[in-house]
Amino acid sequence: MPDVRIKTPNLDDIWLKWKQKAARTDRKKMEKQFGTKGAVFSLDAISAAEYVKDTNKEAAIYFAIKKSLGAAPKGKEETTVTAPRVGRVQFYSFKGATKINKDDWKGDEIVPHYETLQAVPCKNCRGKGYIENKCKTCKGTGKIEENLTILVGQEQNKEKKVFSYPCGACYGTGNRSEPCKECGGHKNLYKYEDLPVPFQTVVTGVPILHSSAQTKYEKEIGEDLHKMIEEVEGIRFSDFKELESKAEPSLGYWNKNIKKTINAASSDYKTHDKDKESQITTQIYLFPMIQMFCETKRGSKFELYSLGSGDKFMTYSNF
Ligand SMILES: [Zn+2]
Ligand SMILES: [Zn+2]
Repeated sequence: MPDVRIKTPNLDDIWLKWKQKAARTDRKKMEKQFGTKGAVFSLDAISAAEYVKDTNKEAAIYFAIKKSLGAAPKGKEETTVTAPRVGRVQFYSFKGATKINKDDWKGDEIVPHYETLQAVPCKNCRGKGYIENKCKTCKGTGKIEENLTILVGQEQNKEKKVFSYPCGACYGTGNRSEPCKECGGHKNLYKYEDLPVPFQTVVTGVPILHSSAQTKYEKEIGEDLHKMIEEVEGIRFSDFKELESKAEPSLGYWNKNIKKTINAASSDYKTHDKDKESQITTQIYLFPMIQMFCETKRGSKFELYSLGSGDKFMTYSNF
């Protein structure tokens, strides 16, 4: 039970921790932003008093959840297409692949699976590719008949004769084969299944951070904090009721935004608690959060944050 007030880190300590980290990460940038021409660059000369323009005492609430991306999308749909259409289908294969991370997946959640593609003999033509019909030209006889009128002898008497020749449309067979309309002459149709992408169903450790500081870096701060949660001291609570009653005495300061943030975090917590697809995996942490608006010697503005107690805190900056 936290009865004691948590010690907020002092500004000089935060500043020192940040400038050492910044110099380790990009010393050239530090020199450029804080250095003096002709003078040897020294971190000691860069003081909080000179470069921190404004400071807010805020608070942050953190907890982590294990998010189950849940029941993979359900569905199984069979599609049958003609052979030339197979090439137009975008197939996917997940054979031997590890489970897919849903957050990284671009595209539909139910897609044609290549492994399900198979030939199905056409029922319409029984897999022959063509249909045999009676030849329309010769009505199935294989012959064309014409009546000739022959003029006989000097009198030129008319005499009728039948002239018969093989039908050119069916080569005299009386039957004509036409490509089957169903399979287009390709004998088979092809079927495949639209199945769900095999998503990984559980993602561990998603940080949830609510802060009273009006900052666009909340997500980044939350991710950094999540990685080093063991090294940052906060006050832990098992429920929001306790947090609400102890927050102000624990922090030793208070403002309207902190109150609002606690309410928002509390309702977010409830949502995750009820959500079957997520599971809260940590206690609720309350952190003193210091927000500093800074400006370099060169006039570049940046923000600096600390989360944690005077003994164990982390810094975040967009410098
Ligand atoms: Zn057919
Ligand atoms: Zn014919």
